Amino acid sequence: MAKFLIFCCWFISPTAVFGQETLRIGILDNKCANGFDFKVEQSNFLLVNSEDKWKMEANWNVQIAPLGNGFRITFPDSTLDCPGPKLTLQSLHHDGKIAIPIAPTGRKQRYSHNIEVHNLGGRLRLVNLLPMDDYIAGVVEAEGGPKHELEYYKAQAVISRTYVLSQYHKHIDDNFNLCDQTHCQAYNGWPRNEQIMQDAAQQTQSLVIVDENVNLITSAFHSNCGGRTNSAEYVWSKKLPYCVETVDTFCMKMPNSNWEKRIPISEWSNYIRSKNLSASDSANYAYFPTEKEVFYREGSTKIPLVQMRKDLKLKSTYFTVHQDGEEMVIIGQGFGHGVGLCQEGSIRMAQLGYNYEDIIHFYYHNVKIIPFQYISFFKQE
Ligand SMILES: [Zn+2]
Ligand SMILES: [Zn+2]
Repeated sequence: MAKFLIFCCWFISPTAVFGQETLRIGILDNKCANGFDFKVEQSNFLLVNSEDKWKMEANWNVQIAPLGNGFRITFPDSTLDCPGPKLTLQSLHHDGKIAIPIAPTGRKQRYSHNIEVHNLGGRLRLVNLLPMDDYIAGVVEAEGGPKHELEYYKAQAVISRTYVLSQYHKHIDDNFNLCDQTHCQAYNGWPRNEQIMQDAAQQTQSLVIVDENVNLITSAFHSNCGGRTNSAEYVWSKKLPYCVETVDTFCMKMPNSNWEKRIPISEWSNYIRSKNLSASDSANYAYFPTEKEVFYREGSTKIPLVQMRKDLKLKSTYFTVHQDGEEMVIIGQGFGHGVGLCQEGSIRMAQLGYNYEDIIHFYYHNVKIIPFQYISFFKQE
């Protein structure tokens, strides 16, 4: 009972807010550096700099471009030059969105809450300020794809939140937390399928994945493991005790289960010889591993499969090779590095009725799913 009381007291402590504050996400780098157009949607916004504020009505089209150290703002019926180095677009209602068309297609990405616009020596940098779960909902759609089951999205939400908290200071030098590219996590703004993505974030609110020592895990995932996930050591030469080889039959009949690539024999032999100058023209390049291999071997040639995948832009390291006329045919299974959660296996598990906890425990071994606020408490135990 004493333990329970301590636990409750700690949980309501005002210090337990790490991760609940507004996130700063760097968005659209290189896409809006020279200025951008946007449309105000669903609410009025305020445009604020250090001295003034201007109201923008719903449905207005506005343009912001760098001008010296400040900005030129083009409203529907007027133009305004204002000093920098920062402008903030503030939504006056929680439903407000700023829609920004993205070149070259002009497809709009919509952003909620606030956007800071910084003029960094004539180049604009945009930062979206928003609550954790609204960000998670956007990431779940961008990383998880559309039209799947809620439990799969919930697993992705927990993975994404774990990533945010373990990489919270990744872009500290850029004055934001994370960028919107795969360098961090893909984030294309407010999700198009907003209900299910928000449900996934909110129904897993504050949950993260920790290892046996209550440290946030490296929540790696990939598209399709090809029937067997890889250990982290296999790909990154670094052991992660929760990312071990796992037989996965769930992903066997999914879109990325199988692939084929054909390469002209000359190109293939040039590649092999670039790795081993003594390899002959008459080498037998056929490769049919009977079990999981670390290296492709031909004669004395030994090439790490992880390297080969990168060099030849193969979808995975699981493949066989045979000759067909003037071509080498590479037939493979799976897509991605194969470490951690297999997305297509998870999609199938969710279709079969498994919940997000089953999915996470299947792909990450000996982990716990806990509210991030509890991490310090468990560490003290
Ligand atoms: Zn990044
Ligand atoms: Zn799989």
